[in-house]
Amino acid sequence: MMPPAETRGLVGVLFDLDDTVLSHGVLTREAYEAIWSMHEAGLRLVAVTGRPSGWGEVIARQWPIDGAVTENGAVHVVRDGKGVTLTFDGDAEAVAHRRARLDALVVTVAKALPHVKLADDNHARRSDVAWDIGERERLDASSIAELAQLVVASGARTTRSSVHLHASFERDDKASGAIRFVHARFGDDSGAALHRWAFVGDSGNDAACFAAFTHTFGVENVRAYARVLTVPPRWVAPSKRGAGFAEIAKTIVSSRW
Ligand SMILES: [Mg+2]
Repeated sequence: MMPPAETRGLVGVLFDLDDTVLSHGVLTREAYEAIWSMHEAGLRLVAVTGRPSGWGEVIARQWPIDGAVTENGAVHVVRDGKGVTLTFDGDAEAVAHRRARLDALVVTVAKALPHVKLADDNHARRSDVAWDIGERERLDASSIAELAQLVVASGARTTRSSVHLHASFERDDKASGAIRFVHARFGDDSGAALHRWAFVGDSGNDAACFAAFTHTFGVENVRAYARVLTVPPRWVAPSKRGAGFAEIAKTIVSSRW
């Protein structure tokens, strides 16, 4: 996949969850072992996901990782003794104001597109809203386009994963959120973050990270998103999802010895 020398100097790996580590939502044995193998090789590990901060709270407590950048960059979760600490961008007033704008947008969408359903993980979200476009529902392309138009008209930013369409009034995307995280947690400046941390992902909402980081990997299913990625990952694993993630982990770990 790549010459070992390329990744020898890495200090950490940032990775997406859905359809990268998780295979259709499931954490396979080989993917979980891949996370442990990178942890045991001394790499810092951070999940970077569109999933809720409530999910980040769980994995930051349970997995051998240094934290989670959740909700597409906005909310950061780190283990703190026996608990976790959540960090937001801005003060409580700013966070509450953005939340109120999101709540209003949810009402607008429900009125205009009553057949479009919210994702089933919104109760665990703090800074964004997600609608289900391909997880438990199969939303048609024109409805997805109408939904995206409503979100943009409200002044929110929209991102799309393989399963959800998100709306957010946050400033961060996955890349700026990940860089903010490694600076706050490890003191790495953005130059160090971009060159000494690898990123592994699979889809359109990973575009900012594929463009920003030097060492970028895609699992095989990223090929389906070639059209929407302005900068594709530098290296693509032979296999899809968790199996591909395990191949990438093996490549990174073996370069360290
Ligand atoms: Mg994904």
